[in-house]
Amino acid sequence: MTGTTQGDGTTAVRAGLPEPVKYEPTLPGPVFAAHFHLPGEPTGPYTYGRDENPTWTHLERAIGELEAPGEAVETVTFASGMAAISAVLMSQLKAGDVVVMPDDGYQALPLVHEQLRAFGIEVRTAPTAGDAQAALIDGARLLWIETPSNPGLDVCDVRRLAELAHAAGALVAVDNTLATPLGQRPLELGADFSVASDTKGMTGHGDILLGHVTCRDPQLAAGVRRWRKIVGAIPGPMESWLAHRSLATLQLRADRQSANALAVAQALNGRAEVSGLRHPGLPNDPSHKIAAQQMRRFGCVVSFNLPDRAHAERFLNGLRLVDDATSFGGVRSTAERRGRWGGDAVPEGFIRFSAGAEDGDDLVADVLHALDAAAAPAGDVSPSTPTA
Ligand code: PLP
Repeated sequence: MTGTTQGDGTTAVRAGLPEPVKYEPTLPGPVFAAHFHLPGEPTGPYTYGRDENPTWTHLERAIGELEAPGEAVETVTFASGMAAISAVLMSQLKAGDVVVMPDDGYQALPLVHEQLRAFGIEVRTAPTAGDAQAALIDGARLLWIETPSNPGLDVCDVRRLAELAHAAGALVAVDNTLATPLGQRPLELGADFSVASDTKGMTGHGDILLGHVTCRDPQLAAGVRRWRKIVGAIPGPMESWLAHRSLATLQLRADRQSANALAVAQALNGRAEVSGLRHPGLPNDPSHKIAAQQMRRFGCVVSFNLPDRAHAERFLNGLRLVDDATSFGGVRSTAERRGRWGGDAVPEGFIRFSAGAEDGDDLVADVLHALDAAAAPAGDVSPSTPTA
């Protein structure tokens, strides 16, 4: 039911649905099965629950239609984003290989680097900004890109890096968690693997962990699938079904959340206590030029610095519509002082803000109120009165 000219909303609501069957639901319910009836020769598609499951099949088709509308691609879903990331790295790299990774990506990547090095794989790192990874590609087997980067929101030119990597004989994987396929389509930009944590904006309700890998090349997909079978990092049928159900609203959520993120960023722009404001949708953002070339929506994350840790904590305490929580991409806005985890190279007052699907005016009012409250001596600002 997809075509290249179809709108994102139409693709999202119909993605992965099977042909209608009289008296059957539109989206078949989750199939809970460790094994399937299998007399005789053990041929597919459904034999054992760690290999395949019909609920995954529907979800994997849906994700494929969003990643590459109208194209034949293969998607493999996982129990989490990290399981998906590990599957690409572990299925493609062996001792003696070189991988180029970002030094400013998701917080767990340094752990990944450590593990890969312990396996005898050379890990080279460079920042996302300025396509700095390009200088390290020579001799590499795999280039790993995360754009926009989390939490710094730097953007690199995927098309350019993919061309350089392919010319040097390397494969290219893009962690597309922040953008989702409605924000950017890594395969169209030249990547071999589009990888994501679907825990975030893709499923968008902050209630499941999930990940996926999509690729065009069936051989690459087979390696990723084999790795899933070996480690057993499979998604549960219930999570898979909830994810598929959530995809129907992806376009609505992505549109509202990126509009809200831009509105929050614009409200923060020019505030004296805010520095280092980043959102790829802001026309004056260092990422904007490349983001505008390769992204179709700029995502829901805004990052900025408040003067110090205490100021940032006062701001977070003053928010009424925004939960102080980690993660991002959910319909309920969240924000956190990222430095509380250690690991990211960010100042103590650094805030990662994820815009939800609230009414934009309410969200901006809440943010501005919390900023005023954080700046003023205690007792000077009236309590916030959320309107929704
Ligand atoms: N990639 C990025 C960019 C992330 O932000 C995260 C989690 O925050 C992950 C991967 C890992 O995803 P998961 O927590 O689903 O394993």
